[in-house]
Amino acid sequence: MFRISKQFHFSASHQLFGLGDCHPCARLHGHNYIVEIELESEKLDEHGFVLDYNELCELKQYIDNTLDHRHLNEVLGDDGVTSEKLARHLFDWCHARWPQTSAMRISETPKTWAEYRP
Ligand SMILES: [Zn+2]
Repeated sequence: MFRISKQFHFSASHQLFGLGDCHPCARLHGHNYIVEIELESEKLDEHGFVLDYNELCELKQYIDNTLDHRHLNEVLGDDGVTSEKLARHLFDWCHARWPQTSAMRISETPKTWAEYRP
């Protein structure tokens, strides 16, 4: 199995509800998010790639145009956008374009990540 990954970055705000007033994530706040897509394939294409990294510029454009410097609660129409939900959203978006997409990982801080992997 061949596996590749690439990271993208964006900044956005979010707010989580139902956690109690003392929970820091209940307040409106922001993160410098790291998005890491992972793709895998048994076979390589005619160029020797799982996927040409150049094709992932579509994902960068989607992140820049849709998520960067936005309020994620408004963008994703949710009561609270956790990293887990964001990972699922971006996984689905990517998997529809690149079936080799095998996982999506989201970091809100240098010490944490959440992953969606079917
Ligand atoms: Zn947060």
